[in-house]
Amino acid sequence: MLVFKFGGASVKDAAGVANLAKIVKKYAGQQLLIVVSAMGKTTNALEKLTKAYIDQSDNLNAIYTDVKEYHNHILKELFEPSHPVFNDIANTFVEIDWMIEDEPHEDYDFVYDQIVSIGELVSTRIVAAYLNQTGTKTQWLDVRGYIHTDNNYREGNVNWDKTHQSISGNIPALLNKGVVVTQGFLGGTSENFTTTLGREGSDYTASIFASCLNAESVTTWKDVPGILNADPKFFADTIKFDELSYTEAIEMTYYGASVIHPKTIKPLQNAKIPLLVKSFTDPDAPGTIIKETGSTVFDKPVIILKQNQVLLSISAKDYSFISEDHLSAIFKLFALNHVKLNLMQTSALSFTVCFDLSAERFEKLLSGLSPNFKVKYNNDITLITVRHYKQDALRELIADKIVLLEQISRNTAQVVVK
Ligand code: ASP
Ligand code: MG
Repeated sequence: MLVFKFGGASVKDAAGVANLAKIVKKYAGQQLLIVVSAMGKTTNALEKLTKAYIDQSDNLNAIYTDVKEYHNHILKELFEPSHPVFNDIANTFVEIDWMIEDEPHEDYDFVYDQIVSIGELVSTRIVAAYLNQTGTKTQWLDVRGYIHTDNNYREGNVNWDKTHQSISGNIPALLNKGVVVTQGFLGGTSENFTTTLGREGSDYTASIFASCLNAESVTTWKDVPGILNADPKFFADTIKFDELSYTEAIEMTYYGASVIHPKTIKPLQNAKIPLLVKSFTDPDAPGTIIKETGSTVFDKPVIILKQNQVLLSISAKDYSFISEDHLSAIFKLFALNHVKLNLMQTSALSFTVCFDLSAERFEKLLSGLSPNFKVKYNNDITLITVRHYKQDALRELIADKIVLLEQISRNTAQVVVK
């Protein structure tokens, strides 16, 4: 069987949904499970809606109306007004109505997951209805009964045993009846609350299904021709890789290459399932295949930009050396506030780290540090990682930038720049 993943950009409008259906038709006769993300920028909009609700801000209704109108517009282009999908979608949105009628619950991350998940519940209903309407027999599956997580909201940890049991026990029979369409990014707790797996987590969802079903391959359909050595939005003359090893792909995603969610590769590597990254606008082109391979020769370096970073220097209030005790206290605070480090460096008197800016988490981290430590920080900075770098090209890359920190190993250079 095959697993496909369609991200938000591939289903951002009615034409995207129709294109998805056309791609799926090419694979008629094969067992197929399709993981779909929220349409277009819906997740960002629902994040804003969550914040507006928690802050009880005036623009809550305007944001919500926009989200509903956006989906309605797509529905109207795809279906006759009498189609039951209009009702299904309205009923799915009612979950948000109920939520925002009440006083906000104090756990932000919990509220976030209950609201933001509606994006995927809606997109998959639309896609499934459209596939059925266009002659592809399809079943909609609520993923929350199959991917079981703990209640670590916004970054649910998968209970693999339970998940494996649910998926391998129930999905094969469904696949015999038609294409299965389900939500990326979501999971469910044992108390039947919704969790999310982390932003851009739909790739990971596809990988979980593939590994539990021992799929032949996973294909993620993107708006790029495959995995490129750098983001074409920032660099000219990019090249596409025809193939990459699992290990290289893990390294790239670890450093922030956003083409694939970092948790995706490992389960596929363990089960030796190849991952194809292909273009949804050119579905017959080969794309990039990630699999077990010998060592690739990198003629061009892999360049990964992570923007919107914070560079934070922490020192002891009494000017003492940074000790293991200090570090242990500092790491505890990072873990507690779910702030993940992208780079770190210690010197005698300070410990410096670089991480993604998330305003609420950063504030909590600072208030945790402030009783015992002095902090200095810079935000709005960029972390550039270059794998398989050559000295000259690296210097050229950062020539016009202010370098705040640099860390260089044999294969990988990381530079924090302003
Ligand atoms: N819709 C979610 C997001 O935008 C998950 C995904 O796209 O993979 O983060
Ligand atoms: Mg997305």
